[in-house]
Amino acid sequence: MSDGGVRDRVVVALDVGGTGMKCALVRPDGVVVRTERHPTDAARGPAAVVGTILDVAGGLADKARADGLTPIAVGIAVPGVVDEARGVAVWSANVGFRDVPLRDLTVARLGLPTALGHDVRVGGLAEARLGAGRGTGHVLFVAIGTGIAAAHVVDGMAAVGANGAAGEIGHILVRPDGPRCGCGRPGCLEAVASAAAIGRRYAELAGETTDAPVTVTAAEVAERAAAGEPLAGQVWQEAITALADGLASGQALFDVATIVLGGGLAQAGDGLLTPLRAALHERMTFHREPQLVAAALGDEAGCLGAALLALDAVGVRDHQEKR
Ligand SMILES: [Zn+2]
Repeated sequence: MSDGGVRDRVVVALDVGGTGMKCALVRPDGVVVRTERHPTDAARGPAAVVGTILDVAGGLADKARADGLTPIAVGIAVPGVVDEARGVAVWSANVGFRDVPLRDLTVARLGLPTALGHDVRVGGLAEARLGAGRGTGHVLFVAIGTGIAAAHVVDGMAAVGANGAAGEIGHILVRPDGPRCGCGRPGCLEAVASAAAIGRRYAELAGETTDAPVTVTAAEVAERAAAGEPLAGQVWQEAITALADGLASGQALFDVATIVLGGGLAQAGDGLLTPLRAALHERMTFHREPQLVAAALGDEAGCLGAALLALDAVGVRDHQEKR
């Protein structure tokens, strides 16, 4: 039955990454009724990527209607710098966006209210409202992968910043004499403790004792550390210590109830959480110590967050959020 009533409404949600797009139709109660994945193929250039985004979003809206559902809004998450108020993808290294008015383009093509958001911020929104931070009100979501970025969510709303650049915890200075960061400055948290930095550091130290090039992922460093390999243990502990410094700064600024760790590094589970909790505990003086937990929604968080953004844009919040 399709009467346009509450039970039949869905939003179209897209999480656009450098390699793939995760897409879904999501009901106002947070239930996902259809998922799709499409390649981004960013090498084609930003115009072609935008074309694919519009085609995929339009296709999902059509499929919703064919299934007797009523699409009411679109939410799109993209990486990089995002001006959420103007709906513009300002800049992105891995998708190639430069000042793309993605919201207006989507409205023109689909005729539906559209919200544009930042991938990590909407991921944090989803973890705070539907995932590991649910019920705790003040949440800092920290995604640790190739880089490190965060979202500060208060009562279900993520702070965007004056210029769309809030949450860049990866560029907190933790080691003034440390390795140079991709942003150009030495010693950023991201240059010391991202998954990419952990792999690089291990390779650098291992390379001092062998002529063969060493290639290891952060996950392998975590495994070797857990198995008792001294070099891996040293590299892992350096990263944990730097992360604790960064998170302690985050806690001093935001006083959250829960820090949710996401991204690839969080898959190390207790191998990350247990020593990081201890190191964070050591750094708390008058601060209230936050709960430190792993993300619960995996790589669906961005897509669910895009759906939440779309629902917020049309003033619909039917999903249950305990605070
Ligand atoms: Zn930096």
